[in-house]
Amino acid sequence: MRIDILTVLPELLFSPLNYSIVKRARDKGLVEINIFNLHDFAKDKYKSVDDYAFGGGAGMVMMIEPVYRAIEKLKSERKYDEIIYTSPDGERFTQKLANELSLRENLIILAGHYKGIDHRIRENLITREISIGDYVLSGGEIPAAVITDAIVRLIPGAMSDEQSALSDSFQDDLLAPPVYTRPADFMGWKVPDVLLSGNAAEIDKWRHEQSVERTRKLRPGLMNE
Ligand code: SAM
Repeated sequence: MRIDILTVLPELLFSPLNYSIVKRARDKGLVEINIFNLHDFAKDKYKSVDDYAFGGGAGMVMMIEPVYRAIEKLKSERKYDEIIYTSPDGERFTQKLANELSLRENLIILAGHYKGIDHRIRENLITREISIGDYVLSGGEIPAAVITDAIVRLIPGAMSDEQSALSDSFQDDLLAPPVYTRPADFMGWKVPDVLLSGNAAEIDKWRHEQSVERTRKLRPGLMNE
């Protein structure tokens, strides 16, 4: 799988995509992640990527040309399954969407900045718009990192068996059960006996019951979606 991220601030992406499961998946060659600096696609000597908004008002707008040139260059080299723009008004990012995107070969994720991108890019080049929640961040870099992380950990081989994504919340419309580690008794705070029993069937049953109970209590809507 290949994920190409377009941004005006590459520095914001280096750390989130260079540690833990995402780094290991990159090292194993399971995913190739490239970060492109949109300033490198600017036409003028100042490497401008933003300009004033037509009609006035506060805030700058990301210009068409650098984004267009970057996307066209990438598209001339390979076919992309989706060209994603991160946007607060996009479709809500969910585990279901992460599962779907993890099955794709090539993705572009365009991170917006300033007041957003010139709308003509959205109308003519973007195939999917994704929001990570109903709040506004300063840029699309953190959303791009969130989307990439959620996708990459689902690629077969990215996680070891014991970290399996299948046991995570939302995979089966249920929240994950509680987890514990040593010591089994910390100042009287005890781990449920069943987890120390060594009885795998009973442990599975307990975990499922906990998942159902926690989902009913904390996110009842998930069970009806
Ligand atoms: N003026 C825009 C609006 O009200 O919808 C917000 C622009 S925001 C300051 C700059 C960029 O951050 C956006 O273009 C988008 O790429 C990204 N962004 C901010 N919040 C986001 C969210 N919740 N989900 C995805 N991307 C977001």
